[in-house]
Amino acid sequence: MRLISYEHAGARAVGAIDGDEVVDLSSTGMIPTDMVDAIAGWSLESALEAVRQGHRRPLSTVRILAPLRMRKNVIAVGRNYRDHAKEFSDSGFDASEKQMIPDNPVVFTKAPTSVIGPDDPIVLANDPTGTTDYEGEMAVVIGRHGKNVSPDDALSHVFGWTIVNDVTARDLQKRHVQWFIGKSPDTFCPMGPCITTRDELPEIRSSWMRTHVNGELRQEAPISALIFDTESLIVTLSQVMTLEPGDVIATGTGLGVGIGFDPPRYLANGDVVEISIDGIGTLRNPVG
Ligand code: MG
Repeated sequence: MRLISYEHAGARAVGAIDGDEVVDLSSTGMIPTDMVDAIAGWSLESALEAVRQGHRRPLSTVRILAPLRMRKNVIAVGRNYRDHAKEFSDSGFDASEKQMIPDNPVVFTKAPTSVIGPDDPIVLANDPTGTTDYEGEMAVVIGRHGKNVSPDDALSHVFGWTIVNDVTARDLQKRHVQWFIGKSPDTFCPMGPCITTRDELPEIRSSWMRTHVNGELRQEAPISALIFDTESLIVTLSQVMTLEPGDVIATGTGLGVGIGFDPPRYLANGDVVEISIDGIGTLRNPVG
């Protein structure tokens, strides 16, 4: 199932995409209007019944929102593809670097207020340094509570997958050493367009991630090239913190970000960034 949060006639709902239509699952009373609540109480049986009963309307008539209203920070992983780790190291922008290829996941977070939906603009004015960069990433959406999750059990904690653009103010990331401020300006976490449930896409590692800026291919990476994969990230994080339904882990970006170029190619007014992952879709955002 490919699930969206959307707005229609001033009301919020959770829907399932079916071709060029959206099925309003919330109108059936079986699925809450908030995606985090929907995930926490999820039963595939009820969801399938809601798909049968729900009102349908053309997808083009609704406003697709970020799939999740985050209740916590977005968890994110840095330097998780070898060729990007080298590119980032060579750029000189990583003031926190101790080793180019990390032995353990480099984990940081993004403020919930940075999250925007598909087609919402990335606002350059929120980066006073004018060094705004894109990072296409596959993101894991957690489905159930987990503490000390074992490697064999890790995938069962995954509700589904989405796309995150880990937009970054590079000079802030460098100046402040810790990445939080450079990763958290308002609008710097586009997310969506949907969550593809794990039953629909059991083998995310077979998918590829591609980023286009103004139609030009900038990033192309197989998810299978992640240094720390979904299972490993869930194991590591859950050793210390309880993972909860609706938590998001952005798994890291591939080669080809703006600072990988000489001179760097930062985002500019009027640009359009599109990130696609097979089985999920395309997250498109204008820059303004
Ligand atoms: Mg990133």
